[in-house]
Amino acid sequence: MSRFIVIASGKGGAGKTTTAINLGTALTGFGREVIVLDANLTTPNIGVYLGAPVVPVTLHDVLSGKKHITEAAYLHPSGLKVIPGGISLDNLDKIDYKRLSEALMDLNDKAEVILIDVGPGLTKETLAIFEMADNAIIVTNPELAAVTDALRTIKIMEKMNKKVMGIVLTRVKEDEFEMSPVNVEAILERPVIGIIPEDHHIRKSTHLKHPVVYSHPSSTAAVSYKKLAANLIGQKYEESLSKQDGFFSYMLRMLGLRR
Ligand code: ADP
Ligand code: MG
Repeated sequence: MSRFIVIASGKGGAGKTTTAINLGTALTGFGREVIVLDANLTTPNIGVYLGAPVVPVTLHDVLSGKKHITEAAYLHPSGLKVIPGGISLDNLDKIDYKRLSEALMDLNDKAEVILIDVGPGLTKETLAIFEMADNAIIVTNPELAAVTDALRTIKIMEKMNKKVMGIVLTRVKEDEFEMSPVNVEAILERPVIGIIPEDHHIRKSTHLKHPVVYSHPSSTAAVSYKKLAANLIGQKYEESLSKQDGFFSYMLRMLGLRR
């Protein structure tokens, strides 16, 4: 059984797509099989963030029943499997959600984890996708407007009987105006399972059409995404492998010569 996890927020621009591709890449780095599905049908992003390869089969072919959804997947150089979103503009008003749901079910057992990226807002399209997932990760920012939107999303998830695994707090600047993770947890009544700092490497990685975990693996954002992935699978992230703490001290620690 695959685990279908929707990456949701409420408001647009919170960092969902960035989280989906980087959490996916980090989990892949831990040896997990992951597919990231761009279920943002009307304004797809993942193709833009990771470079849009010429995929002969599109989600459109899948929804019209011509192709199997696995034929719409492609392998990014980072090792991440991606199914880009988007269907032709002429077909936007007749998205067949039943078919989309069937296509998603066809992904079952094709990977351990299917991360589903959705569009901004709580649109009909997004709510239909929520119904198809088992679990949700809520992405939000440490500011009241974003957290309020996240709360609304969590309440909807609860009504749908979906498990909210936790909160990813991203674009964290640690300045005096920000809400603390403890405050966010108090309002949302869910654990903060990842804290991702504001990091200019994200923009650099987007420019390179790579996840930051792949293009700048020792950047603070990348390390934070790796910690989030480790947290989700119950592993400890060995920070000593990052650049700040080089290979030498890692070896010393492994040999029990340093804590
Ligand atoms: P969403 O999918 O929720 O709309 P995105 O992942 O597209 O949000 O992120 C919105 C914008 O914020 C993008 O320009 C992205 O590069 C930027 N961004 C996301 N996370 C970070 C971060 N940790 N540091 C800096 N910029 C970020
Ligand atoms: Mg997005």
